[in-house]
Formats: sequence, structure tokens, C-alpha cells
Amino acid sequence: MKRRKLLLGLLAAKVAYAGSVDHSYDVIVVGSGAAGLSAAVSAAENGARRVLVLEKETTLGGHTMVSTGYVSALSRKNVSQKDYEASAHTMLEGMRRLADGRGNEALQRKLVYESADIIEWLASMGLRWEDNVFQTLAGLAPRSYISSAVRAGYDYITTLNKRARSLGVEVRFSTRAMQIKTGSDNRIVGLVVQSESQSVEFEAPTVILATGGYGGNVAMRSRYVPWLDARYPTTANPYFTGTDCATGDGIKMGAQLGAALVDMDCIMVIPFWGGRLTDYVGADIYVDAQGRRFVNEGSSWNEISTAIRKLPNEQCWVITDSQSIQGASRSSKIMNGIVSVANTVEEMAAGMGVDKNTLRQTLERYNSFARKGIDEDFGKNMFTQEINKPPYFYGKERLYVHYCCGGLRIDEHARVLNAQGIPIGGLYAAGETTGGVHGKDRLGGCSITDCFVFGREAGKSGARYALQAKANLV
Ligand SMILES: Cc1cc2nc3c(=O)[nH]c(=O)nc-3n(C[C@H](O)[C@H](O)[C@H](O)COP(=O)(O)OP(=O)(O)OC[C@H]3O[C@@H](n4cnc5c(N)ncnc54)[C@H](O)[C@@H]3O)c2cc1C
Repeated sequence: MKRRKLLLGLLAAKVAYAGSVDHSYDVIVVGSGAAGLSAAVSAAENGARRVLVLEKETTLGGHTMVSTGYVSALSRKNVSQKDYEASAHTMLEGMRRLADGRGNEALQRKLVYESADIIEWLASMGLRWEDNVFQTLAGLAPRSYISSAVRAGYDYITTLNKRARSLGVEVRFSTRAMQIKTGSDNRIVGLVVQSESQSVEFEAPTVILATGGYGGNVAMRSRYVPWLDARYPTTANPYFTGTDCATGDGIKMGAQLGAALVDMDCIMVIPFWGGRLTDYVGADIYVDAQGRRFVNEGSSWNEISTAIRKLPNEQCWVITDSQSIQGASRSSKIMNGIVSVANTVEEMAAGMGVDKNTLRQTLERYNSFARKGIDEDFGKNMFTQEINKPPYFYGKERLYVHYCCGGLRIDEHARVLNAQGIPIGGLYAAGETTGGVHGKDRLGGCSITDCFVFGREAGKSGARYALQAKANLV
């Protein structure tokens, strides 16, 4: 009896707490990855007085936090206007080629032409970029920046979070947005959230959806791509040991309000958590079960994954040597037997179970291409080295669900559009929860760029809308 009274007392205290807090904001952002935190910072920088970030997990950062952290962008530093325009043209061409007839050109142009600004924006918050630019995998050209911190994704989140907190942005953890509320004129008036088993309502004229993709939601992804069933792990949950926060919530909430969805069948799968040790083009080769190359390792993810899907068990080997810059996962991959080390080609061939002469011929032929700078078999044209200095590192790779190109349709102001192309008043979206920027396949390093560019835009436009709505001007 005493225990029951105590429990009831605690419950009442909670309800009273929920009721006594002011739940009225200018802008509410759902999701605390790169897109959400960029939006929150930008909203506060653009005059929104009360900004709230809702995060369903107990920590910040979503996929951004665990990402490798390459950010493809233009540079204006020491570059003539002519060269700047030429780089912009090449980047747009790359995006268009991979989009394969899909992708919204206005959104692509915005991403490309504002990419240099976001590099400077993050630097102004104290982020230190590496001096070198890299050609990240599927980046098609050397234009990828990365934070100089050991864990780049973590650095983007902590930098944005610090800036957001200094601007007075509030963050609520373990608070899952469930439903967007609209008023009689169909404009956004707030959100219903689930927090500590309670349903709580928050008010705001602007809601920014930044909930990431839907790759971690097997039912949702396989509705659009039937073969992507539960056998495929995700790059955010590679060994099926944890959970993946990419559950498609923002897309579902937007769709309930009549938002248009675009390119939902465009989901990227990539080799990532197996034998691959490098994140840039030119230092490794992929070979099949016979020890023969089968693809240009510098091509798009779509081309690489299509080639891997044709191999038995959809598996290949990845080989690099002591000269490459290996990522932070090297030690754990070796420790867990995912990557093996060999001092000779013969030893490596034995470990892989392939014919040693075939493997030696593959490496010799590849190294002759590396010396000439052109791959006569598959057209690779980016080589950072030959693969001939032991120890060799090799391991099996498979495909992981990585990135959703599809999602909520937006315009250049990050406004969410309905099926008629009309903005839903007060609803904005940014990052992987949106679609239409990349089309069929995404240029390497362009997701985080997308999050920064459109997150920043959503915050700016959303803040402006909120201030006008509060003054009854819209
Ligand atoms: C291992 C890995 C490496 C990668 N490397 C790169 C790279 O080098 N370069 C690159 O460009 N891209 C890379 N990517 C892709 C890139 O990291 C993501 O596409 C990008 O970070 C997505 O950012 P986001 O802000 O849209 O979503 P996220 O960072 O995923 O954030 C979304 C947040 O929303 C929260 N959320 C979801 N639903 C709700 C809800 N209902 N209520 C409240 N909160 C909710 C989630 O918990 C999450 O914290 C990588 C991805 C992975 C997994």
C-alpha cells in the first residue's frame, strides 16, 4: 500500500513537472545529427529566441556521430574565379552522372555553390579542418575535407552542440517525436512527443525534421527495395549487435501531413565493415574468389555494389599494403580476425584460398597500371601507390545498407512540399530524411555536406517563418 502511494506520488510529480514547463518554442528541430544541429544553430543565429532539439536516443549525433566524416566541398582559398567555376562544374557533373536522370538540379546547385561556405561556417565555430583534401571513395575527384580530430563525425557533433548551447538552444534526450500537429488552416502548430512513457505536447510554428534515413527500418526499406531484407546489416549496426536510429520517423510524420516522397527506392549499399581499411581511392584492390579484379575501385558505389552483387555470396576480398593510410578500425578488424596480415603474396593467397600465381599476376598487372596511371582493364585513373610493400592486409567484404537517397521532397529553402509542389506551412526538413538531392546514387562525402547546407538553410528559413507567424504576418 505504502509502495503504491509512493508510486502514485512520483507519477503525479512527473505530470505536474510536464505541465509546469513552458512548452512553447519558435522552432523545434527533430533529430540531433549534422542536419538537426546545423538547423538549430542556424535558427538561433537567425533570430529564433526559443529553439528546442528533440532526440529520441540518450546521446547526440545519430549516424553523423559514427561517420567517417568526409565532406565534399569547393574551396575559394587561393583559387581564381575561373578555377572555382570549373570545380563547381565538375562537382555538378559528378552529381548529375550518379543521379542517373533523377535528382533536382536546383538542390544540387545549392549544395555545390554553398559547400565552400559551410566549410568556413564550421571553421568559424572552431573546427580545425585537415590541410589536405582527399578523393574519398565514390567521390570521383579530390575534393573531400575532413576534420583534423581523430573521430571526425564526433567532432562535427561536438562543435555544433557547443555552438548551439552557447546560443541557448535546448536539447531533450529520450524524447521521440510521434506526430506533427496542425491548426485549422493546416499550418504547423507543434508536436506530440513520447517522453518517459508520457505523451507530451510542444508548441511551435516551425518544425524542422532531421531524423535521418530509413535504412535501419527493414520493413520500410524493403517496401521500396524488396531484396534489401533483414539479411543485410547497416553501416551503423554492422554486426547486428546494436540498434540503428535510422527508422524513417520524419518521413512517416511528414507523409501523414501530405508531404511528397521522392526516390524512396534509391538506397545505397556499400562494402564497409569487412576487409576495407582505407577510405580514399587509390590504395586498395577488390578481387573475387579466384583472386581476380572485377571492378574499378574508384567508381561510384552503385557500380561497385552492382558488381559485388554478381559475385557468389555477394562477397569479395579487399587488399592493401603497408603504404596506405589505414582507418581507425584497423586494429579492431585485425584483432577480430576480419582483416588478416601476410608478409608475402603466397601467404596471402593461402589465407584467402586462391591460386598464388593468379593473385601474383593480378597484383603485377595492377601495379603496372598504377605506374602508368591508367587501368586498362576497368578504367581506374586514381592511384596513390602500387600494392607491393608487405605486410599485406586482406579481408572479406560484403554489402551493408548505408544511405537513403530518398525521402521528403523539399525546395531550395528546405520547405517540405506536398504532392502539388506547395510548401506545407511551417514544415522544413534537412539531411538524410529528405530526397531529391542526390537521385539514384550519391557522390562520396556529399551527405554531410547536404546536412550542413540544408540544415543551415532550414534553420534560417524556419526561423524567419516562425518570427513572421508569431507576428501574424504569414
Ligand atoms: C559508418 C558511416 C560512415 C559514414 N561516412 C560518411 C562520410 O564520410 N561522408 C558522408 O558524407 N557521409 C557519411 N555517412 C553518411 C552520413 O553520416 C549520414 O548520411 C548523415 O550523417 C546523416 O545525418 P542526419 O543529420 O541527416 O541524420 P543522423 O545523423 O542519423 O541524425 C538523425 C537523428 O534523429 C534522431 N531521431 C530519429 N527519429 C527521431 C524522432 N522521432 N524523434 C527524435 N529524434 C529522432 C536519431 O536518433 C538521430 O540521432 C556515413 C554513415 C555511416 C553510418
